[in-house]
Amino acid sequence: MSIDLLAMATDPKAYVALHALLDEPAADISLTVRERDIRALTREVVSREVAPRAAELDATHTFAHDSVQALAAAGLCGLIFPEHLGGTGDTNVAYAVAMEEITAGCAATSLVFMTQMHAAYPIFIAGSEELQQQYIPGLLDASAYGSLGITEPDAGSDVASMTTTATPTAEGWSLTGQKTFITTGDRADVIICFATVDRARKRDGITAFVVEGGWDGVTGGQPFHKMGMNGSSTAELFFDHASIPRRNLLGEEGKGWSVVMGSVVKSRISAAAQGVGIARSAYARTLACLKMLYGNKIPDEHVFALADLRGKILQGRLLLHSTARLVDTDPGVTPGQIGVMKQSCTDLGFEASVEAARILGPYGDLAHIGVERCLRDAKITQIYDGTNEIQRLLIGRETTRSLKELS
Ligand SMILES: Cc1cc2nc3c(=O)[nH]c(=O)nc-3n(C[C@H](O)[C@H](O)[C@H](O)COP(=O)(O)OP(=O)(O)OC[C@H]3O[C@@H](n4cnc5c(N)ncnc54)[C@H](O)[C@@H]3O)c2cc1C
Repeated sequence: MSIDLLAMATDPKAYVALHALLDEPAADISLTVRERDIRALTREVVSREVAPRAAELDATHTFAHDSVQALAAAGLCGLIFPEHLGGTGDTNVAYAVAMEEITAGCAATSLVFMTQMHAAYPIFIAGSEELQQQYIPGLLDASAYGSLGITEPDAGSDVASMTTTATPTAEGWSLTGQKTFITTGDRADVIICFATVDRARKRDGITAFVVEGGWDGVTGGQPFHKMGMNGSSTAELFFDHASIPRRNLLGEEGKGWSVVMGSVVKSRISAAAQGVGIARSAYARTLACLKMLYGNKIPDEHVFALADLRGKILQGRLLLHSTARLVDTDPGVTPGQIGVMKQSCTDLGFEASVEAARILGPYGDLAHIGVERCLRDAKITQIYDGTNEIQRLLIGRETTRSLKELS
């Protein structure tokens, strides 16, 4: 089969054939049959419904609504949730595999896709049965869009210094404050909002709520114009004395910190899978472009560079799968272990994109080749879901703690 870049983006058969070349038996061997089936299904949907739209969404900054609806229609938005809430009860490994597939086809679509899960998950771990039934199925079939609202203009890495405040009322709470850089924030139907009930209590004042985007006092801002991930939207959220009924509390008042911590494990698997998916996309585009330029006589220096890239992508994928498996099987997985995966895999996405652009020379700069999009999309994965400096901090703390235990 001849592979050219235009065919790869628009012809599902060419897309699947090229990406099958990038499967690695050394990683596949530890996947279950079901996890491989999820990959095949996701790749097939991505080849038809996601990859062909990616360049256009990026160029026109159009929200990836149709792509996400197609993924939801295939039952892929609820992988890690139980069947009674509309999910499929699959593993975190299956989720990571699906995320890599979606990202390889369109990173921006994967950002909207993962945010549906990031909004549903806090309700799953901390919400009442009633809240779960009310909000989770809509997020999983994508009839509702969700957002996870943590970051504020003066509180992101330092989550505990958030100032959005929930003041007790007779019916529940009154919420006032501002969130920023919130994925899907401009159109969210369901917002997981973290606020403080008492700033002096720092972490012990943080409380999680489910807030509806249509409630009085809740407003989404205009989407920001960004460097990459242009098929997703990122916006401010404003809360002006919004009334939150008591039943929309997630967990207990003052116990929101544990909801944040429980949630970031999942969101860091998402970001890490994006890193591997972007690296793979950059590699696939490089292979296809070199084939167009040189046919079957690719110069040795490029073959060597491709060999390096292939090895690094395989290492990233193995780390992603094994850490996701740890999350599936070991409740004692630590922030540092998650951090090693998040930092390494997202650095991989960016560095592989830079390397792909180097290998291709001027072709790397051309929009239709898509490597420059990989580069623009990759940068933010190193920043959100806990910047990679924060991951190093978490990893470093565990290293120094274990060194102290030695003495
Ligand atoms: C496209 C996009 C989507 C996003 N989606 C969401 C979302 O859905 N929900 C949400 O809540 N947020 C979201 N964010 C926000 C994102 O998670 C934060 O911007 C990120 O965590 C960084 O936090 P900050 O903004 O406070 O930056 P800062 O913490 O101010 O970071 C600035 C720089 O300082 C460094 N730094 C900070 N503290 C330390 C430290 N202690 N040691 C060493 N270096 C440090 C950082 O690593 C970074 O390099 C999104 C952002 C973008 C751009």
